[in-house]
Amino acid sequence: MYKCKHFAPYELVPPEIYNKYTNKDEIYDLFEENFLKVLDLIREWSGVSLVINDWFWKGKRRDSGYRAPNSTVGATKSAHKPDLPKRKACAADIISNKLTTKQLWAIIDNHRDELPCKIRIEKTSDGKLLTWLHVDTNTSATQPTKIYYFIA
Ligand SMILES: [Zn+2]
Repeated sequence: MYKCKHFAPYELVPPEIYNKYTNKDEIYDLFEENFLKVLDLIREWSGVSLVINDWFWKGKRRDSGYRAPNSTVGATKSAHKPDLPKRKACAADIISNKLTTKQLWAIIDNHRDELPCKIRIEKTSDGKLLTWLHVDTNTSATQPTKIYYFIA
C-alpha cells in the first residue's frame, strides 16, 4: 500500500467514510496506488499546497476525492468511484489558492515524462473550461499519450 506524503486520509474521502476506519492508513487502500503517487508528484511539482477535500477544516469540499459506489455526486461511472474488481477509485478534483487550473495543467504537461503511469485530465464540461483540476488514472490500454485530455 502506498501512503501519500502530502495528502492525509481525511483529504481524500468524505467524513462518513473517514469515520468508518479505525486505522486511517487503510483509507489509502481505497485508491489505485499509481493514482496516489500522481497526487504527490503534482503537489511536489507545483510547490504549493493543493486542496482536494477540506471538510476536516470546516470547508465545503467533501466529494472531491473518493466517492462511494452509491454516491449521487457527479457521473455514474466516474473514476472517483471504485469499479471493482477492475479498479479502485482513482480521481481527484484539485484546486489551489496560489495557482490557476491552467497553470496546474501546464505544470503537469511540463513533467509528463516523469509520470509513473498514463493519466487523464478533464478540461471542459458542457463546453466550458473547468475551474478545477480533475485528474485520474482510469486510462485505457490503448491511450496513445501519457496525458489524455477529455471533455465531458
Ligand atoms: Zn472529478
